[in-house]
Amino acid sequence: MLKVYNYADLSAAEVKTLVQRNIDAANEIRSVVETIIDTVQQQGDRALFDFAQRFDKVHLDKLYLDKAELAEIATALLPEQKTALEVAYKNIWKFHEGQLKTEDKVETMPGVTCWRELRPIEKVGLYIPGGSAVLPSTFLMLGIPARIAGCKEVVVCSPPGKNGKVNAFIAYVAQMLDIDRVYLAGGAQAIAAMAYGTESITKVDKIFGPGNQFVTKAKTIIQSTTITAIDMPAGPSEVLVIADETANPAYIAADLLAQAEHGIDSQAVLVATSAEMVEQTISQLEKQLPVLPRAEIAAQAIANSYAVVVNNLGEAMQFSNQYAPEHLILATENWEQITVDIINAGSVFLGNQTPESVGDYASGTNHTLPTSAYAKAYSGVSVDSFVKKITFQHLTQQGIQNIGPHVEILADLEGLHAHRNAVSVRTQQ
Ligand code: NAD
Repeated sequence: MLKVYNYADLSAAEVKTLVQRNIDAANEIRSVVETIIDTVQQQGDRALFDFAQRFDKVHLDKLYLDKAELAEIATALLPEQKTALEVAYKNIWKFHEGQLKTEDKVETMPGVTCWRELRPIEKVGLYIPGGSAVLPSTFLMLGIPARIAGCKEVVVCSPPGKNGKVNAFIAYVAQMLDIDRVYLAGGAQAIAAMAYGTESITKVDKIFGPGNQFVTKAKTIIQSTTITAIDMPAGPSEVLVIADETANPAYIAADLLAQAEHGIDSQAVLVATSAEMVEQTISQLEKQLPVLPRAEIAAQAIANSYAVVVNNLGEAMQFSNQYAPEHLILATENWEQITVDIINAGSVFLGNQTPESVGDYASGTNHTLPTSAYAKAYSGVSVDSFVKKITFQHLTQQGIQNIGPHVEILADLEGLHAHRNAVSVRTQQ
């Protein structure tokens, strides 16, 4: 069950230790992942067949499913399942569409105009996790902004199921997004394949998607060894719930468990303004956890989680900003007073009627978010993640006369005579 700490009793060093997670101190994950990446680089498709056998326990005859095969698999969906995916699709599309904005041109001096224009990243790779749970929702969260941005080539990888295929939900989302192929590759090997390319998989310019520690480590390695960018390190999921006396312990417990069932390496943290709220939440956890189908996974994640008792919401926010949670739930009727104090968080759920699950699936916001305190520096996935913003400038004859003398002096300051000359040849005509 949850370990409980008193914030007032914790030293700064203890808080620092408490907020750390997914530290691969012995570099065990790194060494496994480096070997996988090397093998994919050397053996290409062959390595993907071998790793599917070894890690996913499936013998593949072919590395991908094409449109016709995906359409056939998708026929298994029930009408209400299709409707639920369509509602999610519409909301996510609606929220993300607004992010594609054209910026105004700015005249910085008379005759000197600067602006930015968006261009889609041409080739993108989407990783759809599928180890302990298949996540069609992640496919929507990545595929929709890629389509809105207008990326030309969208490569999709997901681990094969036991039958050597993907499930009907993934297949239906592939249809909705007009995806040509879904590659049956999971883990670090899928990331390596998209970063380096293989006989069947195109090398992409940027890789997106969450995953377990192997996937996340592979993404952080390939971004420094290839000219392939990544969205962010989005590893094992986590939630931090801030609760005051207006919170409902049954709701808090349900939200903590929703996170815990993701995987044994997930973390669910409660920061409450009273010891009673923690006690009541623990008794709710004891009630709700055993009846979950994924109780075993959730119990292990809860055992790696904890609660902190603080004196007030200000202290709670202080702790939360240090933790920098992927998901932050403000389980309080007073959320409007404290949102301004949020410095670090991936996505925030406000009040007692906003469970994280709605953002995971269908409210419209993106669920691919920075974990392990990367929310201190990264944002979640959005349309911005799929575009480049190219800057432009245009000078008229008047513009070069206005700015030229200043640039000449600055070039002189740096001793760059050719720079000065590129201006002088134009102004001294
Ligand atoms: P996954 O698809 O990330 O990983 C499955 C793959 O891991 C397998 O195909 C296999 O190739 C590889 N693998 C498994 N064991 C291995 C081993 N011992 N050595 C090498 N490779 C191995 O699926 P998952 O495991 O279910 O993990 C999904 C993760 O994504 C969860 O941790 C979840 O919390 C996280 N998630 C995060 C976000 C986010 O935005 N941060 C969103 C959704 C899910």
